[in-house]
Amino acid sequence: MKKTTGIDRSKTAKWRPATRAVRSGTWRSDHGETSEALYLTSGYTYDDAQTVADRFAGEASGMQYSRFQNPTVAMLEARIAAMEGAEACKAQASGMAAMTSALLCMLSSGDHVVAGRAAFGSCRWILNNVLNRFGITHTVVDGRDNAAWEAAVQPNTKAFFFETPANPTMDIVDLEFVCGLAKAKGITTVVDNAFATASLQRPLEFGADVVAYSATKLMDGQGRVLAGAVCGSDQWINEVLSPFQRNTGPVCSPFNAWVVLKGLETLDLRAHKQSENALQVGKFVAERVEKILHPGLPSFDQHNLSMKQMDACGPIFSFVVEGGRSRAFAVLDALELVDISNNIGDAKSLACHPASTTHNNMGPEGRAEMGVEEGMIRINVGLEDPLDVIEDLERAFDKAGV
Ligand SMILES: *Cc1c(COP(=O)(O)O)cnc(C)c1O
Repeated sequence: MKKTTGIDRSKTAKWRPATRAVRSGTWRSDHGETSEALYLTSGYTYDDAQTVADRFAGEASGMQYSRFQNPTVAMLEARIAAMEGAEACKAQASGMAAMTSALLCMLSSGDHVVAGRAAFGSCRWILNNVLNRFGITHTVVDGRDNAAWEAAVQPNTKAFFFETPANPTMDIVDLEFVCGLAKAKGITTVVDNAFATASLQRPLEFGADVVAYSATKLMDGQGRVLAGAVCGSDQWINEVLSPFQRNTGPVCSPFNAWVVLKGLETLDLRAHKQSENALQVGKFVAERVEKILHPGLPSFDQHNLSMKQMDACGPIFSFVVEGGRSRAFAVLDALELVDISNNIGDAKSLACHPASTTHNNMGPEGRAEMGVEEGMIRINVGLEDPLDVIEDLERAFDKAGV
């Protein structure tokens, strides 16, 4: 293959973020194709036996098997790493495959994890139902409270694990403080950056060690495929994550990698435009409800911190209607344009009721601790004209009596 524009890290590191999202990782074949090629192959052939022996011995580079490497997946990994400012990236089958791999690859029995209280339901489920079966304990803290992170550290704390902004309460974790605390204590920080992506927030710049993704969300951005990614140092990815991943197999399909590669070309545009739209829609919602959790609004108590860490507020925010679950359902059922969907990051505006969907599996106590109220609605603002989204919400609020 030739014309490997975008694989050379010394070049991509000089590009600005929008350029990296379009160009990084492009690894052209001899045909010189414009668009990244889709290599739907599970295996590879070799001209001679020594070539394959050298590759398996780690003495020569090259593909061996698509559980280990695949050219299309490698392009996605190079692009995400460049966007993130990371030395290396490995793509996974889904966001949850990424989170599970990032934690299980480095934790052992007797280790301890400190996690932010607000989290994607399945991220909490892994702590409670997977890690604990192997003697890995955890403490959940209010991620907004710097002192709580410090107080939760034990001699056996190996990892900090959190989202920021967090799902669905939009809790913001102070990246500089929490990553700095972890560094000082030799703890590995794993940040789930799905709500922001590298277009809006780059946790490594604040000292995070590992950034993990659901690429299903904003990265694909058009609701097509599941995919995930984990970024970190060359050493951590090659020596800690890769051996785990290549032997346990939660790898990204080349087809899904290709779809996400195309999604990344428009990520910067989408992430900024959807943030603008979310701000406009959020200003309307703030006039109609008592409680709105929106990082972009000055009324949000962590607005300054979120704007310090993020280039824009992102497409997602939550609000609470009075009247609990039945009123929230009435609003959702009255929507005509905005779809009821638990997905996020899509170009289509989507709304959901976290307590009965994404955070259903954690029970009422878990939800209360996390701040997921019965009247809470989470919305992902898409690329429609925001005035149409506002009109739809206005109609739904009127009909539901909000
Ligand atoms: C969706 C999501 C996940 C899980 O990703 P999948 O691709 O659905 O497996 C993890 N964390 C956050 C913050 C998410 O929004």
